[in-house]
Formats: sequence, structure tokens, C-alpha cells
Amino acid sequence: MPPILEPTFVFELQAPPDANPGGRVVEPGVMFAGSPPMLYVAEPVWNATWGRWFSWHSPTIAASVFLATLLITVWWTRRVGKRPRQVGRMYCRVCNHQLAKPQLKLNEKKRAVWADAESKCPECGVRHKRGPVRGRLRFTRMLPVLLVSPVVLFVCGLVMLATLRFHQRSAWGHGTWPVAGMDKLFGSWALERRSSAMQVQSTRLWRIDPRTNVAEAIGPIDSWGHSFQEFVSPDGRFVVSPVEHGRRLLVVDLKGGERAMYPPEEESRSYFSVERFSIDGTRVFVEKTTFRDSGNLHELMGFEPATGKFETIASVELPPEVRTSGVYTTRSFEFRETPVGIVWVHESSDRNATGRGEETTLRWEASGKTMKRMETSASGSIQTELSEDAKAVVVTDYIAGATMRAFDLETGADLSTVPPIGISQERDRLGPRRIQFVKAGTAIVLSLKGETRSVAELPVSADGWPLGGTQDGRFACGWKERDVAPSWIGRMLGAASKKAPDVRIWDFEKLLDADREVPKGGGTTKISAP
Ligand SMILES: [Zn+2]
Repeated sequence: MPPILEPTFVFELQAPPDANPGGRVVEPGVMFAGSPPMLYVAEPVWNATWGRWFSWHSPTIAASVFLATLLITVWWTRRVGKRPRQVGRMYCRVCNHQLAKPQLKLNEKKRAVWADAESKCPECGVRHKRGPVRGRLRFTRMLPVLLVSPVVLFVCGLVMLATLRFHQRSAWGHGTWPVAGMDKLFGSWALERRSSAMQVQSTRLWRIDPRTNVAEAIGPIDSWGHSFQEFVSPDGRFVVSPVEHGRRLLVVDLKGGERAMYPPEEESRSYFSVERFSIDGTRVFVEKTTFRDSGNLHELMGFEPATGKFETIASVELPPEVRTSGVYTTRSFEFRETPVGIVWVHESSDRNATGRGEETTLRWEASGKTMKRMETSASGSIQTELSEDAKAVVVTDYIAGATMRAFDLETGADLSTVPPIGISQERDRLGPRRIQFVKAGTAIVLSLKGETRSVAELPVSADGWPLGGTQDGRFACGWKERDVAPSWIGRMLGAASKKAPDVRIWDFEKLLDADREVPKGGGTTKISAP
């Protein structure tokens, strides 16, 4: 059993503001880029911008203003009721005692004022600097409250109705409003936000120097979409992120800090997702889906962050999506950069909720012709990968863990022998070590010096992704959940602790003996239980 290596640096990310009873944590984006390598972290947060902060707190603000308005209205009404006045008579502003001569006189504008410098209210003895107040109709005195408070109460009520609902108990649900644990007091009458922390995500970007463990904030993004995608160019120059719900791409130039959005004009019903950067790092591969009534257009494009140029690599026309409940459509490009260009195969399927009965349609082009093939498997789990030479497609049943068949891209015919599957990114192959996810919560460090072997285990998140290493093999990064105690009110109410992500960095120069690839010392390592 290889030893377990604890990280040399842990970077705590922000906890979500409400506890997710299911313990679900949004995966941060982590990636090494640049030379010397720096770790880039896309932290999923709910409050990276003031707009997000305000949107998250809107029910609480509305409820506070609602309550304050209600209190002011009650106080004002009681005050008017307890201080009867007759129209045209003059009263003390402090005690409401009726005033007349000799304390008052009429000035040149025919307004009642204090008669002289010594005048004061005979009842309470106060000489108010604004003088006496003239009695008006009760309705007139109530007018400010009658005009303003219904409007404020109505607007605040609307905001609360729009942002809050009754608490729905579920494994995927989220915590109650305004604090977690309200359901322990009010049960299903407790309130929760309609939008969960996940829906209001924004991003805070960090650059961490793994040699010094110094973290530097490099800006917020008013959107979230980094969990499973590359977001920094390999040279560490550009951040590329889908924004506006994927309708456009934001490019942040980390050298000068400039930001630009592409395409310049938003196209209606077109959505981008970022896949990965090219091997040379000059462009990023993105998928673009355009929804149309007649069917959808799915494109694989190369996007140059330096110039904002898009180039279409492949485009596939798809029939309109099945809009039956419980069925969802997946579509993706499997592609590989080769010396003769980008080889791709498109896969699409309509899956039901269990994934059973899946039928995958594969489309590609050969000698200028569009080719099509259907694949099914008994378990309904199909994975297609390009062969190492990018001339064939290997079809695998990933639940059964069995390779089913392979076919030739030129002819579309089945091959008698299954060719080896390459790894999709040449960059991953470099370096003296590789990090590989092996099972829930565990990644292994593979030493490529001499015979490939596992030299250590790294404790990571259950999903194991994202996970990365530097090309020189010195650093690895991943993430893992930590427990965060609820607020003191939540604790009093018996709320469960919530989860937040930690970014973990391993420096193998400190952890492993370079020649023998065995853990150094014993300080940070421990042997796993059998
Ligand atoms: Zn008075």
C-alpha cells in the first residue's frame, strides 16, 4: 500500500452561505499554467460582485424594509391618535400642549412664532427651535404614511414572493432563510430562497505561487462555469470564461487586466461551452449550440483569445430535441489534434433519467461525406473515444468496463482488432510523474522514472476532478471538502454543518526523495489504515 501524502499547502475557499443538507459542494476550477507554473483557482462564490451580493440578500433586505415600514406606520398612527389637534390651533411640538398668546405672536408672513426670546411652552418648558406646529386634519397628518407605506410594503412583498418559497425537504435542497435550521422550528412552514447558492454563482479568480504559497486575487467574474473546464491558457496569459449564461465568452488578459467579450454582438439562442486549450496554447476549443425550431446546430470551434477570432472546425445539424419529461439530450464532440488537422466525432443521445435504453448517434465526416452510426449497449452506458492514431473510434460500455468494438473513421466499418486509445491531450503525457484518479477520494502519484509505478496516494474529493499536475512533475493540485460549522443561530436550531471546498497543493520536491521516489522524512506523511 503506497503511503498517503498530505498536501503541503491548503487554500480554504469560501463556504456557501446556506447549508446544503446533501453536502453537495460546487467543484472549484484548478489548473496549473505559465512558466514557472502558477496555480489558477476559479473559486465558486455567491458574492464576487455587488450585483450578486445584492441579489443574494434581496429577500433579507426586502423583509427588513417591510418590517421597518410596518413599525413606522404603527408608530406614526399611534402618535397621531394620541396627539389630538384642532385645525388652525397651535401646539407644542414636544408635548402637544395647545399654545396661544402670550407665548406666540404672528410674524410678517402671518405665521405663528415664539413671541420673544424668553417664550417657551408653559406645560413642558421646552422652547423648540422650529417654533409651534399648526393643527391639521387627522387625514392630512396621516397622508405621508398613507401614501408611502402601502407602496413600500407592496414592493417588498413582491420581492419576497419572488425570492422565497416554503422549505422543500430533499437531499439536493438547500438551507432555510434567513438562517439554516429554521425548519427545525417551523417544519414545512420554514422559508427558503427560490434560487440556491448554486444558481447565483459567480467566480473569484486566484493565482497561487506553489513555491511560496502566496495567493493573489486576480478579479471577479459575474458568472460561473469552471467546474469541468479549462479556463486559463497554458502560458497563463488569458482567462476564457463563458458568461451571460453561455451566450458569450469573456477573455481576461492577465498581463494588462483588459477584459473583452466575444462575439461582439450576442446571438440569440446560441450557447458556448469551453472544452480545452490547443496543444500550442494559442486557441481554445469551444462548443457552440444554436437552438432553432427546425433543429439544432452544434459546432466545434477554435477560438483565439488574443484576437477574438472564431473558426468553425466541425458543424453538425441535429433534429429538434425530445421535450419529454425525464428525457434529456446530450451532445458532445470527441476530438484530437493531429499533424493533419483536428479529427472529430460527434455523439448525441436522448437519455432517460436512469440512463437505460440509451441510444447514441455518432456523426463524422470522411472524404467530404457525412457519416452516421448508431450505438447501443445493454447497460445503456456508452463511451466513445478516438484511437491513438485518430483513425478509428473505440466504443466502450463504461458501466460494464468493457470495450465493445472499434470502427474505422474512413469506411465506417468495424475493425477486427481494437486499436489502443490515446490520451486526448499531449500536454498530460509530459513529466516524470503523473497524477491519476483511482477511486472515490483517492488519486495516485505515478512515477514514470524507470518502470511506471504508484509511489503515493493523495486524498482528494470523492469525484476526484478537477485534478492536475505541473509538467515538471513537481506540483500536483486537487480539492477536497471540509466541514464548516453553521452560524451560532443555526447551531442553536440544530442545523447540520455544511461543506466547503479546499484547494490542496502537493510539492513533491518537499514530499518525495527525487531519486528513489519514496516519501521524505515522516512529518507530513502517514501510512493508510489497511
Ligand atoms: Zn410642551
